[in-house]
Amino acid sequence: MKESEMIYMDHAATAPILGKALEEMTRCYSEIFGNPSAIHSSGQAARNALENARARIAKVLGAFNTEVFFTSGGTESDNWVLEGMARKKGHGHIITTAIEHNAILRTAEYLEECSFTVTRLLPDRLGRITPEQLEAAITPDTILVSVMTANNVVGTIQDIPALAKIARSRRVPFHTDAVQAVGHISLNFRKLGVDYLSLSAHKFGGPRGVGALICRVPNPLPPLIFGGGQERGKRSGTENVPGIVGMAAALEQRTAGMTEETAYLTAMRDRLIDGMMRNDGVFLTGDPTNRLPGMASFVVAGVKHSAFLVNALNERGVCVSSGSACSTASREASHVLEAMGYDSGLSRCALRFSLGQENTMDEVEYVIGIMPAVIEAQRTKEMW
Ligand code: PLP
Repeated sequence: MKESEMIYMDHAATAPILGKALEEMTRCYSEIFGNPSAIHSSGQAARNALENARARIAKVLGAFNTEVFFTSGGTESDNWVLEGMARKKGHGHIITTAIEHNAILRTAEYLEECSFTVTRLLPDRLGRITPEQLEAAITPDTILVSVMTANNVVGTIQDIPALAKIARSRRVPFHTDAVQAVGHISLNFRKLGVDYLSLSAHKFGGPRGVGALICRVPNPLPPLIFGGGQERGKRSGTENVPGIVGMAAALEQRTAGMTEETAYLTAMRDRLIDGMMRNDGVFLTGDPTNRLPGMASFVVAGVKHSAFLVNALNERGVCVSSGSACSTASREASHVLEAMGYDSGLSRCALRFSLGQENTMDEVEYVIGIMPAVIEAQRTKEMW
């Protein structure tokens, strides 16, 4: 089957580029090719495009222009906050959760090897972290709290304003990995009350390899990458101007249409959840109501590994994921589901549908229709 004929339901892994983003990027590649650090007019045109994109992103997210720093994506932004804060303080205690993306978890592990201490808060069965848990975990040594806004495996949305308020009352900087949330739910940097926020363009219809870290003005971080002093000395390297412009265009387009898009996605998501739950041994994972609009995630009992389901759906023209793109090929159980209290058997058979604007209710009905046979066929298969 040609890629164009596939039903793509893996938007949380990466989303197709939005028309407006592609249009602005194409113009940028062909017309605004100077280096933004150059002082001649070609360089200045690129500088203007870059600063204009910064202002557009800051405006949508309720931040100051000077708080937006461009990076290569969510992984870099996450690494920067943890590593940067660790270097700034030299020692101390970091609080995060057991359900973060590996960009946070692996960095935290590395910092443990460098003698920082790390607490990983465990969520409840729905993937929620409470302010009380955070309050109890903070010690006089705590240098940073990092809690994701929305989970990439089950879609649960955290109450970030309440969590950030606790951290602030204890004078501890708060970071949120909002990679799955930006462009999908309404977010305002100031209203969230966080100090740092990571985002990534390819999760909301911008290009891959571009992202940003929003840093509250009084809380500077030391650079992660050293060199020519771009991004006000904080993130060296010649800026990816077309990518950054594409990210601004995608974010604007997504935010402008968010109310209708959310209604459209939620209707398809809820129909998919309803249809999936009619199969014996299929359980919804994550918070049933407080979840990302396009995300329907399940565990399928009796199937030895989710890769069987992902491959079987692929053969029938549907692209989905086991939970996160980076773990699809691995035999390991989902660390997110295990942390939520699922046993290792169920944690190995997670299935995630993440819907986007180009999906239709007919496609959802097609998936619901083929699922009983797909599940039954995979239940007889043994681990490879
Ligand atoms: N954080 C979360 C929650 C994610 O889902 C992802 C990507 O899947 C990342 C970080 C990494 O982002 P990027 O692919 O831009 O490096």
